[in-house]
Amino acid sequence: MKPVVLPWIIVEYCEGCTVCVRSCPKKCLQMFPGGEEGIFVPWVTAVDECVGCGRCAESCVMGGIAMTGYVDEASKRLKTKHPQIALANP
Ligand code: SF4
Ligand code: SF4
Repeated sequence: MKPVVLPWIIVEYCEGCTVCVRSCPKKCLQMFPGGEEGIFVPWVTAVDECVGCGRCAESCVMGGIAMTGYVDEASKRLKTKHPQIALANP
């Protein structure tokens, strides 16, 4: 079933701690170079596996992940943009 919310990763807030990656029960997130000053940031690579549970967003103390109800837009962004591109063109 299609989730009602999906993660929207705010690359510029991320500090690369990887807590969100480890908090995902579906192992949907991976770290990539692409943040400011070359830090690694998370991205949802297995978008179709994401159940929209929000644990990744809840785990981030930096506000680096927000859950959005615009699931089609979020899905397209996750599938078509690399984090480095998302940083330049949020
Ligand atoms: S989004 Fe948040 S929890 Fe995930 S790596 Fe970045 S700072 Fe850490
Ligand atoms: S919403 Fe849940 S399933 Fe989706 S990436 Fe975040 S922790 Fe993983």
